[in-house]
Amino acid sequence: VLVLAASSGGGLVAYADAQQDQPQGPKKKKVVVLGTGWAGTTFVRNLDSKLYDVQVISPRNYFAFTPLLPSVTCGTVEPRSVVEPIRRILEKKGGDFKFWEAECFKIDPAKKKIHCRSNTGTNFDGNGEFLVDYDYLVVAVGARSNTFNTPGVEENCHFLKEVEDAQKIRRSVMDCFEKASLPYLNEEERKKNLHFVIVGGGPTGVEFAAELHDFVTEDLSKLYPSVQHLVKISLIEAADHILTMFDKRITNFAEDKFGRNGIDVKTGYKVVKVAKDAITMQNPATGDVAVPYGMAVWSTGIGTRPFVVDFMKQIGQANRRVLATDEWLRVRECDDVYAVGDCATINQRRVMEDISEIFRVADKDKSGTLTVKEIQDILEDIYVRYPQVKLYMKSKQMNGIADLVKAGNGDTEKQSVELSIEEFKKALSLVDSQVKNLPATAQVAAQQGQYLAKCFNKMEYAEENPEGPIRIRGEGRHRFLPFRYRHLGQFAPLGGEQTAAQLPGDWVSIGHSSQWLWYSVYATKQISWRTRALVISDWGRRFIFGRDSSG
Ligand code: FAD
Ligand code: MG
Ligand code: MG
Ligand code: MG
Ligand code: MG
Repeated sequence: VLVLAASSGGGLVAYADAQQDQPQGPKKKKVVVLGTGWAGTTFVRNLDSKLYDVQVISPRNYFAFTPLLPSVTCGTVEPRSVVEPIRRILEKKGGDFKFWEAECFKIDPAKKKIHCRSNTGTNFDGNGEFLVDYDYLVVAVGARSNTFNTPGVEENCHFLKEVEDAQKIRRSVMDCFEKASLPYLNEEERKKNLHFVIVGGGPTGVEFAAELHDFVTEDLSKLYPSVQHLVKISLIEAADHILTMFDKRITNFAEDKFGRNGIDVKTGYKVVKVAKDAITMQNPATGDVAVPYGMAVWSTGIGTRPFVVDFMKQIGQANRRVLATDEWLRVRECDDVYAVGDCATINQRRVMEDISEIFRVADKDKSGTLTVKEIQDILEDIYVRYPQVKLYMKSKQMNGIADLVKAGNGDTEKQSVELSIEEFKKALSLVDSQVKNLPATAQVAAQQGQYLAKCFNKMEYAEENPEGPIRIRGEGRHRFLPFRYRHLGQFAPLGGEQTAAQLPGDWVSIGHSSQWLWYSVYATKQISWRTRALVISDWGRRFIFGRDSSG
């Protein structure tokens, strides 16, 4: 139900109030979720629909399975197979869910309202704007592509972030081949049209390059025999290697395979300008090099959305690049606002900030010193609250505390060691260097959405908010554990039915067998049986008939 309310400017602003539709009963708290991507959708799917009055707001009325987007660029998988309508997801859950197709353009944390704008409809004012109240706000709006202000990127490059991007890329690839085949072009012009440039050697850029290479060699070469020898694919990366987030073995394999496939991997080059028909890159040895191209895909780096930057200014996070939350995913310095996924990072608390408190809690007998036993007793709790300590214990440079704890078992001499606060500080002085930001991946976003939903489902039961430096076991009061990420591994599809997989414990597998693992994992990860069936039939069709090259 839309109600009209006077806006601060004096005009009328539409008011979205889901409460109006509800039958009488105790008033439920209003949860507003911004975004229907990995984090937002996973949150909503796991939220207990009986507990809250939920409004979901997103400019896209569907969830997109992003890991399959590179496959959409070449028609290996159809666009409709990777999306699931959000209304279908909400309907399946039942309960008090509302969806508004609109984008939020301003958060007002003081009044606990958000300002939205519909991208299709207009209201009485003609601008499609409306306000939504919240008790709790979950920001899950993801990130935007980052051009790093490189001139010409916005105008001349494709991005690969949304389903529409993948569809545009597919059309553009076909256009390049058709253009290159026209009768009146010279060889030089044909070559230019068939030069495909990918900027960014991360997982997305690499997968797209591999996918495009397969499309060209398996399907297009038969359809465009006269120009197929002119095709060139270049992958430009500023760092010294591609896939730097993966194990060295995978990086090497990928670089070798691309070399054999004729994909030109240009590492150590930074793109400084993109003009309509030439892309300029820079390298200390060669200086500026301008190369003609037919199509360019920009796939490097993500940035913060402008309205989130504005929100950060309002809450005193103006000097940060990404919205910061605490380990419970609560936005710092802002009550009742949570942020999950690519739009935020967890600002991990440092051990050194809490060192006196940790010492006090650990020193059970109040002797003013810590025995090795006392340290060992509290270690599990420290790991939960400060994951960097666990990383540190595993790292090679460990000293001080780790030595003590390891040797403490059995070593009577070490067991009798007692640490003063100063010695305790010294032993832990290096652990904060192990604080790491989580990667911007679907895996992190989905785990955060699920974690937050669990917290929301138990919120009433746990009135007492989790605070303080460490969780104290058996304390009676219910407290939530901080969010902990479980890395389940990562894939890098490299084309030719070969995939590299890096699983936990540095287990690396490369080749056809991991391609099958990839197929099965991505089939099981599908959000519904409908998309699962569609994706599997797309794969099957591709095996039998090849990819579709119309468009
Ligand atoms: P998104 O999933 O981006 O969702 C953001 C949502 O917010 C969208 O629904 C959007 O429409 C909405 N939104 C945007 N602006 C507004 C606004 N103003 N108001 C309201 N809503 C808004 N990760 C992996 O783990 N494995 C992979 O294999 C993998 N492959 C990838 C391939 C590609 C091509 C891409 C682009 C990404 C890939 N990722 C992968 C990364 C993964 O997709 C992201 O980390 C993940 O989508 C982040 O989830 P999110 O919910 O934070 O953001
Ligand atoms: Mg989301
Ligand atoms: Mg998504
Ligand atoms: Mg994040
Ligand atoms: Mg003591």
